[in-house]
Order: sequence, then C-alpha cells, then structure tokens
Amino acid sequence: MSFDSLGLSAELLRAVSEQGYSEPTPIQRKAIPIILQGLDVMAGAQTGTGKTAGFTLPLLQRLSDKPAGADARQRGARPIRALVLTPTRELAAQVAESVQTYGRHLSMKSAVIFGGVKINPQIDTLRRGVDILVATPGRLLDHAGQRTVDLSQVEFLILDEADRMLDMGFIHDIKRVLALLPPSAQRQNLLFSATFSDDIKRLADRLLNSPELIEVAPRNTTAERIGQVVHPVDKHRKRELLSHMIGANDWRQVLVFTRTKHGANRLAQQLETDGLSAAAIHGNKSQGARTKALAGFKKGDVRVLVATDIAARGLDIDQLPHVVNYELPNVPEDYVHRIGRTGRAGKSGEAVSLVCVDELKLLRDIERLLRRDIRKQVLPGYDPDPSIRAEPIQNGRGNPRGNDRGRSQPRQQSDGYGRGRAPATKATDRSSASRRESGSQRAGEGRTSPKPGGHGHVRRKPADSRSQPQHRHPRSGRGSQRAPLVGGGFNDD
Ligand code: AMP
Repeated sequence: MSFDSLGLSAELLRAVSEQGYSEPTPIQRKAIPIILQGLDVMAGAQTGTGKTAGFTLPLLQRLSDKPAGADARQRGARPIRALVLTPTRELAAQVAESVQTYGRHLSMKSAVIFGGVKINPQIDTLRRGVDILVATPGRLLDHAGQRTVDLSQVEFLILDEADRMLDMGFIHDIKRVLALLPPSAQRQNLLFSATFSDDIKRLADRLLNSPELIEVAPRNTTAERIGQVVHPVDKHRKRELLSHMIGANDWRQVLVFTRTKHGANRLAQQLETDGLSAAAIHGNKSQGARTKALAGFKKGDVRVLVATDIAARGLDIDQLPHVVNYELPNVPEDYVHRIGRTGRAGKSGEAVSLVCVDELKLLRDIERLLRRDIRKQVLPGYDPDPSIRAEPIQNGRGNPRGNDRGRSQPRQQSDGYGRGRAPATKATDRSSASRRESGSQRAGEGRTSPKPGGHGHVRRKPADSRSQPQHRHPRSGRGSQRAPLVGGGFNDD
C-alpha cells in the first residue's frame, strides 16, 4: 500500500516522499484516514511505530483544508488551532520537527514551547501567531498564567504519550490545560499511548467523543523485531561486562539505561575511563547539555549514551541498534518504552538486560507484563556467584513504599534466573516510581510560579525523617532532590 491512497494532499505526499518513506506504517494506514474524517481517536502505539507522522500528516491536512474561523480572520489574528501536548522537552522538540518537516510545502506556522529555556523568545513567537503549538504542560501553563498564550480557538488537541504524562504526574496540569480550551465537542481530540491503564481510560472518557480505537501492536507487548536477552551477572561486574560487550562486539551506538541520575553520571564517567566515549542524559542536566549529548550521540562522537527513563522518553534516533538495561526499571512498562528505542520503523534491534540477583523480582514483573519469558544467557566468565544473596534494591522498587526499610528481602530459593522461583515481594506503586525523576525534571522545566504542594498526591512521612528534609510537591520539584516523593523509597539521585 502506498501513501497515495490515504487521501493526503499533494503537498503532504511530496514531503513524505522527500523523507524517503515509501509506504505507510500500520499506525499511519489506520490512523490517517480516520483522522481525516474528523473523528476522535484513541490509539495504542509505541514509539517507533511512526505514530508522529500518523497524527501530524492528517492534522496538517485538516488545518489546510479548513481555514481559520471567520472570527479570527476578521480580526486578522492567527489563532492557535492545534495543540500537541507531550510529556518531555525532547519529545516536544521532535514532534515540532516533524510538523515542520511534513508541513514544509504548506503555509502553516508552528512553534514549540517547553521549560528549561528562556521564556521571552517563546512569548515573541506566540505573539507573532502560530497555527500549531507543540508544548509540555508545565511551560504551557506558565504562558497561560502570564496570558501570553490564548488557547480559546483550539480545534485539534493531541495528547502524545499520554501514559507517560500520567506517570509523570501531569494529570492536574492536563486538566488545567483542558479548562483553557473550547469544549471537547468543538474539537477533534487524539490520544496516543503505548499502554492503557485505567487512568488512561478515565482520561480518554473525559477527553474523547466516541473515539475510534486503533491498536497496532498488542497491548503492552514489545515489538517482535526486537531481540531481547537477559545476561545474568553480579551487580559489581556489570560495568566490566558492559564495557566488554561494547568493545568485543564493536557496538558503535549504544543507549544504556540506569535507574538513577547519579548512576547515569557515574556509569558515563566509568565508561570514559574504560576508553569509551560516553555521556549522561537526565533531568538534572541543563537543556543545553542534554541537546549537546544527544547531538553527539546521533553524530557518532558519543558512543554510549547513558540515560534515565524520563530523559530517554521520546528520543528519536534512527536505527539505534542496541539498547542496554544496565539496571532494570522500577516500573515494568518502562521496559517496553526503553526497548522501543531500538527496532524503530521496521529496523531490527537488540535489547540486552544485565540482571543481578537483586533484580529478579523486577524481571518477573516485566515478563508477566510481556506475557513471555525473556531468553537468559550467561556470558562466559560472567557467571553469577551463587553465594550472593538478593538484597533490597538501594533506593529502588525492591522497597517501593519504604515501610519495610532496613529489612532485607527473603533469601532466594534457587539461583532464580528463570531456573527457580524468586520469593515474592510486594506489588509496585507504579506512579510513585515514575514520578520521582519527573519532580526534578520539572524543576528543570523552569516554572516561573512554584505551586504549593498538594494536588492530592499521597505523601508519606519518610521512614527516617531525621535524615530526610521535608519534601515538596513532586511536580514543582522544589526543595531537596533527595526528598522522597511517595514513601521513603527511591530517590532518583
Ligand atoms: P515515531 O514512532 O513517530 O517516533 O517514528 C519513528 C521513526 O519512524 C521516525 O524516525 C520516523 O522518521 C520514521 N518513520 C515514520 N514514518 C515512516 C514510514 N512510513 N516509513 C519509514 N520510516 C518512517
């Protein structure tokens, strides 16, 4: 099937063919005709499926088919007609780039706004008039607070990576943004999400009018073309194994995930010591540093990019062949997002997880989510020492609520690497684990008006309140980076 049969205009088809795309991806095949009909959409699509073009192309077409309302024309104004909300700056920048790319033969104006950079140039851009605005919620609300953005004429609302926005605690911001828009019945609303939790369904109910459901990959499963393997290894030998694998296999571009920002920094430094060019990317880095690290990685100057989950969200790096989970994520869904960084747009990729005995519970949760076992392979010379017992993951999900802090996990009944059962531990608090980095990342988003704490988040007293400064609201991230956000467990630092 070619793009020609989807009903797109000549200008858009030209832009698509200039990108070198010969045929639409499954999500594009399904979403484009439905969006062109003006229907609301709830789409389940992972990153890497081509979802951005899936909504950007029909959006551009609808906007150019239907000129701005008579009101706006009379006033000579250029109102914001389409709003795309994304969870992270990187994703916002990438979506905005796609809007530019696909819209290059149209006379549409677009802009992107996110925190961590000066607000004044954004104000100037908004003042000059924009048809399509791509934004992260925090900075958008800053503009709304300063009355430098008018969303009252929005005809199209797109929530991209909605699951991640909720994981990052953006639900209140989203509600505040919705209150600034015309009623949902007067808009076309599109919601894209890699996973469908009950929270997402509730948001969809509030937002979408009789939506068409589109799903291109079975829920919560990983793309078939991604080869996945677990290498059991002792924690203290992970770095050695990683350097060995990169060197021995001559991997030139590797994205490595750690659980914490501190861990990302430390690993990047250690890899440098091992002679591998490496950079860390996480929410505590300035926007400039993040952009520079990503550019270096894309160009090939940086061979290993070490990232935390939130920072890596939305990174679009063509043909990324290797993703390494140096540490398993606290939230099983993050595994799906992480490995979605490879095997993009039909290319094959490899996702390698280095798993120590402490992480077996996390591994089992991931396998349960995927509804399949991941292949285990012990690499020669890196056999795990069977005498090492599982310990609670430091600052990790092994102790998600902090209410059993200090207690060690039950002993392993066997080696546990898929060859025996690891003892069960408590269920995870998914949202709390994911919010942690968002707090500090949001601090970097440069809000101009910190909000008071509250917003209904569950807040618990830290287990050791003497050593923990009082924490603030996770969204503003003000206050100590070390402050626990929910429970006394894990700080992404
Ligand atoms: P996305 O899921 O939107 O992040 O897109 C993932 C990657 O697929 C991006 O690098 C796009 O440039 C690329 N892409 C999007 N549509 C197509 C297509 N029809 N054919 C080939 N590559 C595509």
